Amino acid sequence: MEVVRKSEEIKAWVRKQKASGKKVSLVPTMGALHAGHLSLVSIAKAHSDAVILYIFVNPAQFNDPKDLEKYPRTLERDLELARGENVDVVFAPEAADIYPEGGGKLSGTCHVRAGNRSENFEGDGRPGHFDGVCTVLNIMFNIVEADTAVFGEKDYQQLQVVSQMVKDLQIPIEIIPAPLVRDHDGLALSSRNVRLSPEGRKESLVISRTLAAAAEKVSSGERDARKLEQNAIQAVESTGRVKVEYASIVDADSLEPLSHIDKPCQFLLTATVEGIRLLDNIRLKP
Ligand code: AMP
Repeated sequence: MEVVRKSEEIKAWVRKQKASGKKVSLVPTMGALHAGHLSLVSIAKAHSDAVILYIFVNPAQFNDPKDLEKYPRTLERDLELARGENVDVVFAPEAADIYPEGGGKLSGTCHVRAGNRSENFEGDGRPGHFDGVCTVLNIMFNIVEADTAVFGEKDYQQLQVVSQMVKDLQIPIEIIPAPLVRDHDGLALSSRNVRLSPEGRKESLVISRTLAAAAEKVSSGERDARKLEQNAIQAVESTGRVKVEYASIVDADSLEPLSHIDKPCQFLLTATVEGIRLLDNIRLKP
């Protein structure tokens, strides 16, 4: 497995793959890899001949400097895990190589403004977050020129925001969604989970349980989205140590809120445990 730090080197690597007729896929991550990320790699492998795992903690998508500072960075371990998955190349650039000017601050530099799917939910809680995500991905898609890129449904809104950008800006790349991977106890895998105390981790299980219960209710006939949302907030907050940021049932593509469930849709739920934001979601099928 090659490890590349410079944009010029990854460009040359991709050119070589393409010259030999290979289809290239990109798996964008911020590192601190876990089984959720690795599932994206195996999906990428199934769709292409060469997989680039991209690891970059993107300063432009952090609106809270403390969150950026605390974000786990485990490059050596990540490289081991990537080797174990037979990744072809890891591209782990320095911030100065991706943002030669502005140091990752969007103001004053040319950047992407995310579309309307970015407006609520994570967009409310983290102003500028999706502009930062779209900008760095645009830079990355231009550097790498991959045929496909894989994104997890764990970050459901991000998947829709990126799909909208690729469509609206006619970026020649196919976006492949990957199912959300959970831990053995149901908690959605996330690089941030390592920051939970043992008690916090136990308490956080109420999030996935509540979503699973909502999906169950919908398959047995419940159609009232508002009622499901209210019940979910009550259930998640019942312990007093988990605070819901949003609990919304939305159209699975447009992310428009729904009041009556008459088609498959997505229940997005983000809550804070011990100051750590945990994102989860589930498909509801009437
Ligand atoms: P991150 O490193 O958190 O920015 O995530 C990088 C990619 O991995 C994104 O496309 C995420 O949606 C995806 N991802 C993270 N956690 C999971 C998970 N538990 N299941 C599926 N995909 C995930």
